[in-house]
Amino acid sequence: MDFQGQRVVVTGAGKGIGRATAIMLARRGASVVALTRSASDLATLEAETGCRGIAVDLADAEATRAAALEALPADLLVNCAGTTELESFLDVTVENFDLLHAVNTRAPMIVAQEFSRELVASGRKGAIVNVSSCAAFVGIPDHAAYCASKAGLDGLTRVMAKELGPKGIRVNGVHPTVTLTPMALKAWSDPAKAAGMMARIPLGRFAEPDDIAEVILFLLSDAARMVHGLSMPVDGGYMIA
Ligand code: NDP
Repeated sequence: MDFQGQRVVVTGAGKGIGRATAIMLARRGASVVALTRSASDLATLEAETGCRGIAVDLADAEATRAAALEALPADLLVNCAGTTELESFLDVTVENFDLLHAVNTRAPMIVAQEFSRELVASGRKGAIVNVSSCAAFVGIPDHAAYCASKAGLDGLTRVMAKELGPKGIRVNGVHPTVTLTPMALKAWSDPAKAAGMMARIPLGRFAEPDDIAEVILFLLSDAARMVHGLSMPVDGGYMIA
């Protein structure tokens, strides 16, 4: 897959899956604009890939829109930034519920809106990948706000696919299982919990960030030109009933 001449916006490119995606895209010729929170991550990513970095807190709607506009024009978008807080359903706070929806659901909507408006206005085609989660399909204890925010993102992906497809913009979702990143350390460092999850993965391991990045690049690429509105598990078979 060659991304020479393609301009790609990647949110959450500072760490984990977003960083792996930005690096893979840059190695395959893309010009990457990275949106993430920590300036130190951006500095190392810029040095490693030559990408352009924009530091932004995606929980802030106005700042998110300004950063999205600053990142344009672009041909491809990966909405990868995400966050989680572990709380049992009975303990979920309104603050964390709102935060997870702001970062995981609202920010992808805002960034995709500005990305798509610019593409449509200039008459170019493009593609979007929203990074969701297997947590959008199943109920995972202590992940109520996270599961709800990712299921919300999937609803957004489907509507975007219906409305943006006729305008030449493909939209798909990717649904990783546990992937070995800083987020996974937060959510799955309890060995008993991790073992229970691993037992449900027929391929017998958690994902590496590059496993997810490869699928994201496929969905962005012209090889996937007829793939649209898909929710694609990248889960080693976790979703098999
Ligand atoms: P990481 O925590 O490793 O990285 C997340 C990235 O998003 C970081 O660069 C982080 O920046 C950035 N980010 C988070 N919150 C904000 C914010 N408010 N403003 C700007 N940037 C922000 O996560 P993963 O790589 O594991 O996750 C990537 C995506 O994949 C997420 O959407 C996640 O929900 C999803 N996913 C992950 C799974 C996993 O097991 N790891 C499984 C299924 C889905 P900073 O550190 O500076 O805050």
